[in-house]
Amino acid sequence: MSDVRTKILLDESHLPTHWYNILADLPNPPKPPLNPRTGEPVSPDDLAAIFPMALIEQEVSTERWIPIPEPVRDIYRLWRPTPLYRAHRLEAALGTPARIYYKYEGVSPAGSHKPNTAVAQAFYNKQAGIRRLATETGAGQWGSALSLACNLFGLECTVYMVKVSYHQKPYRRSMMETWGATVHASPSDRTQAGRAVLKADPESPGSLGIAISEAVEDAATHDDTNYALGSVLNHVLLHQTVIGLEAKEQLASVGEKADVVIAPCGGGSNLGGIAFPFLADRFQGEEVQVLAVEPSACPTLTRGQYAYDYGDVAGLTPLLPMYTLGRSFVPPGIHAGGLRYHGDSALVSQLYHEGHIQARAYPQGPVFEAAILFARHEGIVPAPESAHAVRAAVDEALACKERGEARTLLLNLSGHGHFDMGAYDAYLAGRLEDLEYPQEAIDRALEDLPQAPAI
Ligand SMILES: *Cc1c(COP(=O)(O)O)cnc(C)c1O
Repeated sequence: MSDVRTKILLDESHLPTHWYNILADLPNPPKPPLNPRTGEPVSPDDLAAIFPMALIEQEVSTERWIPIPEPVRDIYRLWRPTPLYRAHRLEAALGTPARIYYKYEGVSPAGSHKPNTAVAQAFYNKQAGIRRLATETGAGQWGSALSLACNLFGLECTVYMVKVSYHQKPYRRSMMETWGATVHASPSDRTQAGRAVLKADPESPGSLGIAISEAVEDAATHDDTNYALGSVLNHVLLHQTVIGLEAKEQLASVGEKADVVIAPCGGGSNLGGIAFPFLADRFQGEEVQVLAVEPSACPTLTRGQYAYDYGDVAGLTPLLPMYTLGRSFVPPGIHAGGLRYHGDSALVSQLYHEGHIQARAYPQGPVFEAAILFARHEGIVPAPESAHAVRAAVDEALACKERGEARTLLLNLSGHGHFDMGAYDAYLAGRLEDLEYPQEAIDRALEDLPQAPAI
């Protein structure tokens, strides 16, 4: 059966009641995070200084379905279920027999998928009696999401924003301040980690790894303050599974099943969010392919090493098993700031390592070319991060055309690009560079991998 609808909506009664925990079904779960001092798996107590117990439990849970608290569902209802669209016009423009669907997470108040976990994290911290959350943000999407969520639950929010974005994206900062957050350019002089970086390089543009060090230090040194991470960790990917659960139901409502699920990959949260419910079917023997798309300027999966590494530059986090470019790698200043992270989620890394997920990297020129094509046919201006998935979907659709194959492609349009018009401006004016793949910088950073068991 096929359906010609363009916009596939679910009513609120279809809002998921549970998150899907892939740890229940993984054939081989990732190795545990290690305490860098002892070399032993981290204990819940190690994490309790910066996370509430409910999230620590979710981090290690192997329950397949985890109930979504009602106050979190109440806030989700402000914008969820999000729409699924069939890209009829893009398909026609490409002349492809493929059917392209996109799940649009840009309808959230912050403009991306990130509030799906920000709201849950703020809820559990409030419940644990925490007064303030500290976090980092790159392009500003995560900082905005957490500012929104903290505001809705009556928490204070302190955001360390990567300095280059702080100056490039003043309106993201205004948005966070509108929701009541306090924003500092990172590296800042407010933390030891920030001061150390500034001493070595007063002109440092900052990086996510540095900003994470600052936020973790802030949380660890204040009793009433916890830390919140917008990607990478198991509980973050868990919260994002509402995306895939809804998309599966929406596809089913028009008699469709995804052959390929495509998402941009920074730390892996929107990819995990849309793909994990489909991977559950793959573990049951269904054929579904998952494709992670990353920038060739920060090619974590396609060129990184699978090893234990720190999640931050200062080495304050546990050692995580992940594909990494080395924690001191500072990626070139590409416009998809949300994809400039040296590592990847342990879950995504393990799934990639075992061949359940594939990965592909693109330079930003072809990514923006696809973004403009998408905007001109579908209307929506994609976030530069999301545009990576658009590029890959366009290429998959063109490959289907060549092979005469009518596959069903599902892509995650993780956010809108309304705060990224500077990047579009640069592209349209022919000023956007295809930054070279920085092999030397990666080699240098990989020399610093910490002492740890091989994976
Ligand atoms: C943050 C962000 C990403 C990348 O982060 P993941 O954790 O890999 O999802 C992708 N798209 C948008 C719009 C983002 O804000």
